[in-house]
Amino acid sequence: MPLISIKDVDLVNKCVFIRCDFNVPQDEFGNISDDRRIKSAIPTIKYCLDNDARVILASHLGRPKEISDKHSLKPVAKRLSKLLGTEVIMANDIIGEDAQNKAKNLKKGEILLLENLRFIKGETKNDEDLAKSLASMCDVYCNDAFGVCHRAHSSVEAITRFAKEICAGFLLQKEFNFAQDLLKSPARPFVAVVGGSKVSGKLQALHNLLPKVDKIIIGGGMAFTFLKANGLNIGNSIVEEELIEDAKQIMQTAKELGVKLYLPVDVLAAQSFSNDSVVKKVSVQEIPNGWMGLDIGPASSILFKEILSDAQTIWWNGPMGVFEFDKFSKGSFKMSHYISDSYATSVAGGGDTADVINRAGDADDFSFISTGGGASLELIEGKELPAIKPLILKEEY
Ligand code: AMP
Repeated sequence: MPLISIKDVDLVNKCVFIRCDFNVPQDEFGNISDDRRIKSAIPTIKYCLDNDARVILASHLGRPKEISDKHSLKPVAKRLSKLLGTEVIMANDIIGEDAQNKAKNLKKGEILLLENLRFIKGETKNDEDLAKSLASMCDVYCNDAFGVCHRAHSSVEAITRFAKEICAGFLLQKEFNFAQDLLKSPARPFVAVVGGSKVSGKLQALHNLLPKVDKIIIGGGMAFTFLKANGLNIGNSIVEEELIEDAKQIMQTAKELGVKLYLPVDVLAAQSFSNDSVVKKVSVQEIPNGWMGLDIGPASSILFKEILSDAQTIWWNGPMGVFEFDKFSKGSFKMSHYISDSYATSVAGGGDTADVINRAGDADDFSFISTGGGASLELIEGKELPAIKPLILKEEY
């Protein structure tokens, strides 16, 4: 199922609207602390410039409740300008007078960045009027914002119904093709490593992944719902009581399918959710009342390493513990090292997981790190993403 590639479209002298994912993290001073998402958009932007197009860029940033400097894309324009070595004109609005004027006056080889798309309420409501206004600014619409493709938002879904020509950028194609190839015929054993805080966000993914993998490792906060489902006392550890039955069901299905499902055997427990808390290394059978597990323990790390040792394909989504606190980052860092040291095809997804891998210094040793969390999860599950569906080449259906 190939996508309509930007390479299939004639861009010469046209105005190309590229929907990017510039949703970058910023520190307390507003500095961009990780510009990988901006860098990932550069191949598509350069391709347009090399083809004598005019370029309009648009993205969301954070979840603004109102228009504010905090969520302005101005710092992104500055960083992008530095990376490209050319000026990036910043619009003060999205479809207002300033943006419309600047878009109209754009010359060949110039780049205009619109303000944060989420400053307009209609964006997340897939509003058609907003989509029409955005589409009317360009000749070609190009989606390169993989991270938002699992959502039906105006600038990624509705806009495809109004733009004269539509296509996928290089980043989107790379993400989509990688997920497709991974699912088609993964080298086996195929091991999924799932972590993070909530089962709820990944429940459906777990159900859908089971028939595809040979082994599944569950760590992080979500492991405690499974441990409790097995009758263990988990103290004050994070748990989703209403999902205990689902957790039992997942373990039962795994058994029926012959999929080996592994949970932590020990944890680092603390009395409070803090980096200063006293820490205890305990087996999962001995978590004291009032204590909470905030990372997998050393025995679990060794066990998981062993499980990964014969893997030929590894897919990882979600940290093994509260890696934001140094004290509870070891389990996640070790997991990152084990996977990157393996000879398996290694794929990671999700902002937190990518963050762990980068902090652990392992990014270069992964086969692929997806820029999208939810989107990569849904793609791996085999779901149809609303913003990708219109971009699939019809003849191939
Ligand atoms: P998610 O958004 O579900 O992928 O979860 C990511 C978050 O899970 C990270 O911010 C981690 O701090 C958190 N997390 C991982 N392990 C635990 C744990 N044992 N208890 C509480 N939170 C956790």
